[in-house]
Amino acid sequence: MRTLIKNGTVVSAEGASALDVLVDDERVLALAAGGSELARSWQTGADRVLDASSKYVIPGGVDAHTHMEMPFGGTTAADTFETGSRAAAFGGTTTIIDFAIQARGGSLCAALDSWQAKAAGKCAVDYGFHVIVSDVNDSSLKEMDVLVGQGVTSFKLFMAYPGVFYASDREIFEAMDRAAGNGALVMVHAENGIAIDAIVAAALAKGQTDPIFHGLTRPAELEGEAVHRAIVLAQVAKSPVYIVHVSSAEALAAVAEARRRGQNVLAETCPQYLFLSEEDLARPGFEGAKFVCTPPLRPRIHQAALWQGLRIDDLSVVATDHCPFSYAGQKELGLGDFTKIPNGLPSLENRMELIYQGVVAGEISLSRWVEVTSTNPAKVFGLDPQKGTITPGSDADIVIYDPHATGTISASTHHMAVDYSCYEGKSIIGRVDAVLSRGRQVVDGDTYTGERGHGRFVPRQICQCLR
Ligand SMILES: [Zn+2]
Repeated sequence: MRTLIKNGTVVSAEGASALDVLVDDERVLALAAGGSELARSWQTGADRVLDASSKYVIPGGVDAHTHMEMPFGGTTAADTFETGSRAAAFGGTTTIIDFAIQARGGSLCAALDSWQAKAAGKCAVDYGFHVIVSDVNDSSLKEMDVLVGQGVTSFKLFMAYPGVFYASDREIFEAMDRAAGNGALVMVHAENGIAIDAIVAAALAKGQTDPIFHGLTRPAELEGEAVHRAIVLAQVAKSPVYIVHVSSAEALAAVAEARRRGQNVLAETCPQYLFLSEEDLARPGFEGAKFVCTPPLRPRIHQAALWQGLRIDDLSVVATDHCPFSYAGQKELGLGDFTKIPNGLPSLENRMELIYQGVVAGEISLSRWVEVTSTNPAKVFGLDPQKGTITPGSDADIVIYDPHATGTISASTHHMAVDYSCYEGKSIIGRVDAVLSRGRQVVDGDTYTGERGHGRFVPRQICQCLR
């Protein structure tokens, strides 16, 4: 099966040019200047021709931070691997990296097996796994080596959530020390959870139970402090570190300082920290619950710092931390007590188009959009050049993006299995027009043309962004 994508502008992390793309079965076979004799000669042998005139042709998005079917706070994230991966496809994301969670007292390999079973045969697009280490001990440290050999090369530890996922500085250091030896990348949720717990308890004692207090009890200073501490632990362990979901200027400053010194510190932010704010958490009634995620949405002033971080590569990746809970029946668990609101937002489907609004607004360049949503996450998590690039030999994960289309985000039209959108009514310039996953067209406009189980597990190399 040969597919020719013609007349489009191919956008990569390096630039944009008029190129036709020839896809053979699951891979990119060749690129040639649009309208050239070579490109024209491909017409005859093609089984299918997609006309991308006046559109961008970009590598499919890589969302390195999703939580499908994740158990949290007595409920489970609403998207299954089936619904979530289909929503990803609609949004132009063709690879997701989800988190398998080690049970306390359980093994890392059992966690991976269990999440592999949830995903197997269900996914619309390709997927990989990180493993959340909630119990650092001799055997889980040894298992890190085994998993790296199986293409699971990143492990997440939490400085937040005491009693749930929390790891002490000693445990985080031990995991980093192991990672320094086996090439793994340690990802850190950096907030000072011990101090936050004290602030939360004091708020509840004063009867402060509304959703806004989720934000007010998790100050940005305690994110900045934890990011700095994670970076120092990694420096001493001589391991790279990846800071997930940077939400504040304080956290970003700690990352930036370490990168100036040349330390291998990588960091992501998420669309919610670029577009939403504490004002959303303060919406009247209980509506703020729709915006409860961790770290919390910050005062609007932080957004400019995060865009600046994206421009100058202190932030290398935009991932979603997609962890959707419906308002009805799930977010409502926290009525009268914000600590019972399940933490997480839906945004997987909107990531590519939201970050494109940053191109429209002049915050980042067109190439940088592709770099932070696709190319960089592929490199950071060891998927280059299979993913994140349109290069001969790479997987034909390709999005045709129409920059002239306009639309409106709404829960009534999205494909995520959740009953609200954080961006309800937001006008969007540009839209995902067609999506190929390993050469197969899975989205055609508003129509899903893919197949449950098309998506495969992708083993990953170690981080390709170290210096
Ligand atoms: Zn997360």
